[in-house]
Amino acid sequence: MVLIPSRSRPPLARGPSIDRGSPLFGASTTVTSLRRAARAVLGGHNGWVEFLAAGPWHQPMRQALALAADAARSSADVPVGAVVLASDGSVVAAGANRRERDHDPTAHAEIVVLRAASAALGNWRLDGCTLVVTLEPCAMCAGAAIAARVERVVFGAWDPKAGACGSVWDLPRDRASLHRPQVIGGVLADESAALLESFFASRRQ
Ligand SMILES: [Zn+2]
Repeated sequence: MVLIPSRSRPPLARGPSIDRGSPLFGASTTVTSLRRAARAVLGGHNGWVEFLAAGPWHQPMRQALALAADAARSSADVPVGAVVLASDGSVVAAGANRRERDHDPTAHAEIVVLRAASAALGNWRLDGCTLVVTLEPCAMCAGAAIAARVERVVFGAWDPKAGACGSVWDLPRDRASLHRPQVIGGVLADESAALLESFFASRRQ
């Protein structure tokens, strides 16, 4: 798991943005994230990289992974799951990608749980909350997390094609961002990537 502060942000990945439904999440995801971390440590950037014990985030990430797997079994939705935790670690909301089920282009897992958490708390501001999601948020979802004022975004697999928390864009750490949540990426990344790979492999058969 890698925490990368804004000033040590690695060079941005280049390439055309693709839909989340593309089968391009590969085993190279972890390698990519490790290379990214190594670049940040060794490449003479201005900041630093901190490696943290992943423990506190494993349990909610496993819950998000289970939700993603359930969604993939019961619908055609790409398996991405998410939970929102309150500052005391309790689960405020949990859900999965529902884009196909709801015929809703905005029904990514993050949007689903941010809406549910705001409804549960009776407040659009999610101060002190942590968004945990199995895949690096896209631009829409990173924007929503910022708008909701979450304290922290924790994600699993990196998305080198559409990720907006360090891969293609880095909205949470953009200087122009009105709010800058902490970002912790790569938590149980292999498991999340394997789930996505399995999903897309089954669809190709
Ligand atoms: Zn999204």
